[in-house]
Amino acid sequence: MNVYLKIRSALSDKNKGRLTRFLIQTGLKPKVNKRAVTPFKQGIIVFSADFEMAWAFRFSKTRQSEAVKKGLEERENVPVLLGLFEQYNIPVTWATVGHLFLNECKQGSDGLPHPEMPRPGFFENRNWNFSSGDWYQHDPCTNVISDPSWYASDLIDQILASKVNHEIGCHTFSHLDFTYKNCPKSLADAELDACIRVAAEKNIKLKSMVFPGGTFGNYESLKEKVFTCYRVPMNNHIDLPYVDSNGLVAIPSSLGLDKDPYGWSKEFHLKMIRRFLEKTAKYKLVCHFWFHPSMDEWYLENVMPDVLNLVAEYRESSKIQVKTMGQLADEFKKLTAETKRREGRNKYT
Ligand SMILES: [Zn+2]
Ligand SMILES: [Zn+2]
Repeated sequence: MNVYLKIRSALSDKNKGRLTRFLIQTGLKPKVNKRAVTPFKQGIIVFSADFEMAWAFRFSKTRQSEAVKKGLEERENVPVLLGLFEQYNIPVTWATVGHLFLNECKQGSDGLPHPEMPRPGFFENRNWNFSSGDWYQHDPCTNVISDPSWYASDLIDQILASKVNHEIGCHTFSHLDFTYKNCPKSLADAELDACIRVAAEKNIKLKSMVFPGGTFGNYESLKEKVFTCYRVPMNNHIDLPYVDSNGLVAIPSSLGLDKDPYGWSKEFHLKMIRRFLEKTAKYKLVCHFWFHPSMDEWYLENVMPDVLNLVAEYRESSKIQVKTMGQLADEFKKLTAETKRREGRNKYT
């Protein structure tokens, strides 16, 4: 842990808020990789959504009892978000839990949900504790009408029907811990295969991965299943992607969009977004905003429309471009391949 994180973790919530505010005011946040040699002609903004509904919270250490409520909030918010993104013509990578592609599911003959799926062993991580019962014990095994927090085929259809060219990405089938420690390769493969199968029924090819709860791992499985990219925090908020040892494009994660626990005003939130946009444009790097569709109502109604308006303004004045994770990964690989070819040529001339 670096010194900054050590100091920060020792502060009260109120003081953490003050510290971040100070860093934004003084221009120390967002941190930018100023040494990066960018292949881009403009800064690039990416939006991704962790679309997960009740699945994300069922083993949460602090919010397990809210799982269904969170799912319903997401259900309510997704159409509002789609309307906003359509108004500003901004595409999003919707990293979707595979089970949400279903309209219904049924218990197997042994009484268990999804007998076809392997399960993780018991584990505890930073956010979740799975210590008894079956991994799918909360699955209602009904349908979208009876239990609308657990199924969302209809919402995925709404995303696909939008005039904006959104991307559907992957957030695993059952929102499990994807680390090497808690997810053996056979389980990772089965989770991805299940997602690929249900997505194919809607003619979707999954290319982009968002690891549930930041549980990074099993990159080899992603490579084998022909994914191209994933979202990951880097040392700088605004940075360049890189191609990892598996040939996958790692895309920086910059800022989560939601109400803060510190009581910041709408004006301060927008000031912060402006700082991210200014630096992204200036250094021609990548800034990746992500959010949970279950975001706070105040943020959704008061801040999100102005965030999108600002992004659209920057795009209209040609300071930035907006891309999905998949588009960015393809473009980045193309540009780095061109640079390599050029460098290779230069060596012999
Ligand atoms: Zn199910
Ligand atoms: Zn998640």
